[in-house]
Amino acid sequence: MNYDKEWDVIIVGAGPGGNKCAEAFAKRGMKTIVIDRKQEIGTPKRCGEGLSMRWIKIAEQEPCPRWALQEIHGAILISPTGKKIEIDTRKTGQTGYIIERKMWEKELAANAIRAGAKYMLKALVTELIKKEDQIVGVKVNHESQDLKLHAKLVIAADGIDSLIARQAGLNTQLPLTECDSGYQYEMAGIKPLDPHKMELYFGNEVSPRGYVWIFPKSEDTANVGIGIRGDLDKTAKEYLDEWIEKNTERFEKASIIEINSGVIPVTAPIPEKVANGLMVIGDAARMVNPIHGGGIGSAMEAGMLAAEVGTNAIKENDLSANRLKEYQERWEELRGKEFKKILKVRQFFEKLDDEQMEIIADSVEPQTLLDLGHGKGLKKILAIMTQMGPASAKLAMSFLKKL
Ligand SMILES: Cc1cc2nc3c(=O)[nH]c(=O)nc-3n(C[C@H](O)[C@H](O)[C@H](O)COP(=O)(O)OP(=O)(O)OC[C@H]3O[C@@H](n4cnc5c(N)ncnc54)[C@H](O)[C@@H]3O)c2cc1C
Repeated sequence: MNYDKEWDVIIVGAGPGGNKCAEAFAKRGMKTIVIDRKQEIGTPKRCGEGLSMRWIKIAEQEPCPRWALQEIHGAILISPTGKKIEIDTRKTGQTGYIIERKMWEKELAANAIRAGAKYMLKALVTELIKKEDQIVGVKVNHESQDLKLHAKLVIAADGIDSLIARQAGLNTQLPLTECDSGYQYEMAGIKPLDPHKMELYFGNEVSPRGYVWIFPKSEDTANVGIGIRGDLDKTAKEYLDEWIEKNTERFEKASIIEINSGVIPVTAPIPEKVANGLMVIGDAARMVNPIHGGGIGSAMEAGMLAAEVGTNAIKENDLSANRLKEYQERWEELRGKEFKKILKVRQFFEKLDDEQMEIIADSVEPQTLLDLGHGKGLKKILAIMTQMGPASAKLAMSFLKKL
């Protein structure tokens, strides 16, 4: 296949962020190409495949049986000693789906193609092309052939290990302590399993800083995964295997049908998200919810916003960082402030010992626990902790001062 050498927009990365961004640019009449090193969109998945209805709506999608596998209308949170807190989210409308990400991501790409975008797969972007201090394109190795593609604007949608943003001179440092290490089995034959509820297991023994999840994909298949802080000697796989060993009765007849792993940046977004001729979206900009690690929705949302600002900048023929900063400022209003609050929740929870977690599980309304995922409710929990003895009170007071 031959590809043009001149584009309005080059998007590096065909993940949820890149695909949705491509659709939004193409719909505005921009000549858009998406480049990905993969040979198949959507695989290998590095994902628990949980997507809330809120994000599906923001992405202007309707759940479709090909990818919306299980409707989820609740969660079961399990404390370190095994206490269960059941949350029914139908009352608050916080429902969602466990999706088949491969099918869903291909549909995102197909939608972008229907809108007019082109795709180039098995194509590794190796370098940015610069003209003085303006980014004007990328060098690509496509099926062993070196190509140069030029564009008015380049979008870095290349995920956690973003080479592009770093090459543009942006600060993409990510200390290990700010990453979670994820490991997951898709398993069949799990019994019993509630196909409409997510299960989340907490505790410093089970999963330091993170949680073990069971996200159902049918009556007896599920993604069984774990996220732990990234700087530990023991691996996420070891933690997950140990946890499965301890829960043998449910997994007695189960077996693994897929294995995935990946790193989740549960930290603050990169401070500068634009350069001359470049915008950074999704995981590449660390736009991930720091408490639960979900990043699909925010990647798409950022992609759509980047397309709106980027199209106007192209039409005005001003691709300077100064002009593109509108994207960064609007993202800060839209999601950045919320993510900052959620980061504080994460920083607080990682300081808790199992005993403190138990007391919280006993004393806090289930809805408050759910609200933490949106950065709300921390004050209520801190107030409870001030009554919990000197060590807890001291910890709570130190966080109250930071709010
Ligand atoms: C174990 C695990 C479980 C998770 N579970 C969930 C979940 O349940 N729900 C949720 O919302 N989020 C989850 N996430 C996070 C979610 O997967 C990411 O936030 C999301 O994929 C980010 O989308 P993106 O488009 O920014 O980047 P990615 O999806 O990472 O896409 C980046 C793309 O860029 C391509 N690429 C990279 N470098 C180059 C290059 N140089 N040249 C060409 N192509 C390149 C890659 O091949 C890739 O296709 C999970 C993550 C992990 C690791």
